Amino acid sequence: MSQITINLMQVRQRLELAALAAKREPEDIQLLAVSKTFLPRAVEEAMHAGQTVFGENYVQEGVEKIQQLAKLRPWLEWHFIGPLQSNKTREVAEHFDWVHSIDRLKIAERLSSQRGEFPDLGVLQVCIQINVSEENSKSGISFEEVESLCNAITKLPNLSLRGLMAIPAPSDDVNQQRRSFAAVRECFAGIKAKHASDVGYDFFDTLSMGMSDDMEAAIAEGSTMVRIGSAIFGKRDKIKA
Ligand SMILES: *Cc1c(COP(=O)(O)O)cnc(C)c1O
Repeated sequence: MSQITINLMQVRQRLELAALAAKREPEDIQLLAVSKTFLPRAVEEAMHAGQTVFGENYVQEGVEKIQQLAKLRPWLEWHFIGPLQSNKTREVAEHFDWVHSIDRLKIAERLSSQRGEFPDLGVLQVCIQINVSEENSKSGISFEEVESLCNAITKLPNLSLRGLMAIPAPSDDVNQQRRSFAAVRECFAGIKAKHASDVGYDFFDTLSMGMSDDMEAAIAEGSTMVRIGSAIFGKRDKIKA
C-alpha cells in the first residue's frame, strides 16, 4: 500500500472520530485533498485510493496539474483555495469547479462574467473567505462586511454562493482553535437563517474550515469541508508552503 493510501485512511479515520465525538454524521463532512506543491502522480495515487476532490492554491501550478490530468478530469473535482488576483481570474473561471477564497466583489464579478464564456461548465461554486484572525492575515473579508458581499454574489448569474471559508492563525491551543471556528460558524448560521427563503441562498450549505493541524476543532464547530494537505501528501517544501 502506498504512503498516500495509508495517510488517506488515517485522515478519514480522524474525520470519522471527530464527527462521532461531535455527534455528527461523517458523511456530512467532505474531505478536500490539498495537492499544492505535489506532482500529478500524487493526485493519481490519491484517486486510486478513492479520493476525487482536490484543492490547489497557486493558479499556474493548479491549471498545469489539471491539464496534465485532463484524462481524469470527468472524475475529479478541483477547488481553488488560494489568494486570487484580478489578472488570474480567467484561468480559474476556465478550469476550476469551486473557489473558496473570494474576498471582494470585483473578483466575484470577473469570475462570473468569465465563467459565462464557458457555458458547458455550468456555474462556478464559491465560498467567501472570512478574515478570522485579522492581525495575522491580509486575506479575507471582515465579519462586518461578509453579509453584503454574500448578497451581492447571489445576484451574479454564473456563480453559486455555497458558504464561508476561514483560515485561523495557527494555534496549539484547541480552545483557541475552537473559538475562531465557532465565530465563523455563528456568522454562517446567522446569514443562513436570515436569508433562508431568499433567492440565491438555496445552496448556502458549506463551511470550509479545518486543515491538517486543526481539523478536529473545525469539525467540532460545524465544518462541512476540511482542506487537508500535509497529513495526506506529506511535508511540503517550506518555501512554497
Ligand atoms: C495549504 C492549505 C491547506 C492545507 O494545509 P495543511 O496544513 O497541509 O493541511 C488548506 N487550506 C489552504 C487555503 C491552504 O493553502
